Amino acid sequence: MSAARLIFLGAPGTGKGTQARRMSERFGLAPLSSGDALRREVQDDSPLGRRVARTMERGELVSDDVITQVMLAAIQGLPAGKGFILDGYPRTVPQADALNAGLARVGAKLDAVVDFAIADDLVLARIAQRSICSGCGASYNDEFVPPRTAGRCDNCGKALTRRPDDRAEVVATRLEAYRRQTAPLIEYYEARGLLLRVDAGASPDAVEAQVVSAIEAIG
Ligand code: AMP
Repeated sequence: MSAARLIFLGAPGTGKGTQARRMSERFGLAPLSSGDALRREVQDDSPLGRRVARTMERGELVSDDVITQVMLAAIQGLPAGKGFILDGYPRTVPQADALNAGLARVGAKLDAVVDFAIADDLVLARIAQRSICSGCGASYNDEFVPPRTAGRCDNCGKALTRRPDDRAEVVATRLEAYRRQTAPLIEYYEARGLLLRVDAGASPDAVEAQVVSAIEAIG
């Protein structure tokens, strides 16, 4: 299974990042989060980070070309034959086309796309409960995945913070971007016979069980 090439698709706050990390460990896949990659650039104050910081703060999508370059480079940097989970990429139809083309150039293709389906009101509740580690980026949830010590990361001990783009007014923009630009990918991948659906409204452990079955069913 360590060679599977997967996409986790879903609105912000559906828990796909948490599941991407769990599944990566379980199946020996590389977790490739586009949001984490961009946040690292912003934190490092790199030229790319400076280019995308404002767009990310507003909750809008960065350009297809920029994110595609970042993600194809991440895929190409993996050891030969290593599978991966793309979390947060692609988010538009042009990105999905560019990903297909990029994979085809190295003789690879996707095995499955897992869609994390969830109601809007649950998304808002999940985001309100979310904090992330200022050091390693690990994600916590007050109800489902609380840290062992309040305000501190279990993995690295650094302080937990709220993501600046988790503010209510920015979340509204992110959800709108999801509906308008990303949701069409559900049909896109369904038409290609790649789509698997999970009910992301359940608890993280229950969602995990669904995702494991979906991945194991790929064979
Ligand atoms: P995320 O952590 O996946 O919610 O991403 C945080 C922010 O990074 C998004 O609101 C966008 O500004 C940017 N971003 C991440 N992935 C993409 C993508 N595939 N296309 C465009 N912008 C992205």
